[in-house]
Amino acid sequence: MPIKSLVRTIPNHPKPGIMFRDITTLLKDPVGFRITIQELVSRYLDWGIQKVVGIESRGFILAAPLAYAIGAGFVPIRKPGKLPADTIGHDYELEYGSDRVEIHTDAIAPSERVLLVDDLIATGGTALASVELIDQLGGQTVECAFVISLPDLGGVKLLQERGLDCHVLAE
Ligand code: 5GP
Repeated sequence: MPIKSLVRTIPNHPKPGIMFRDITTLLKDPVGFRITIQELVSRYLDWGIQKVVGIESRGFILAAPLAYAIGAGFVPIRKPGKLPADTIGHDYELEYGSDRVEIHTDAIAPSERVLLVDDLIATGGTALASVELIDQLGGQTVECAFVISLPDLGGVKLLQERGLDCHVLAE
């Protein structure tokens, strides 16, 4: 069953003009959820990944079972002010305004092999800021994995231009 067919599009969410890809329909489907995680597990099982980093909040849903299955640790990247211990953060620009992601300073050890996971890549700003945090901690981002890419918004291209490998399950 194609993953894409289980993702629904909600027009005008969260703002007028935005076509929001809603993955809750994929997650609630037992076969769809299993296939999604299994596809990621079979790709990354033998990569020697030590940390799977998930981006708040939908990235957590994918990164945690993947980390468990491949024998890696799970690390959250969160919105500002949510993580309780010492953090570093990175600000990035949005179309209107800016946003920020944070990670615990002790979340990744130097030279650890890291996989970054999120549900969707649009402009790539969130993923790029997250890779910056992993870089600052000395981690090695071996790949960035997304269930969905919106190619018109150029995120995968942007990451590839920065020398990052991307893996996308559905466009
Ligand atoms: P970007 O920084 O690549 O422009 O946006 C990606 C981030 O915003 C991801 O963390 C993703 O979860 C969220 N996001 C943006 N648009 C959508 C969407 O249409 N559907 C979902 N599920 N997430 C989105």
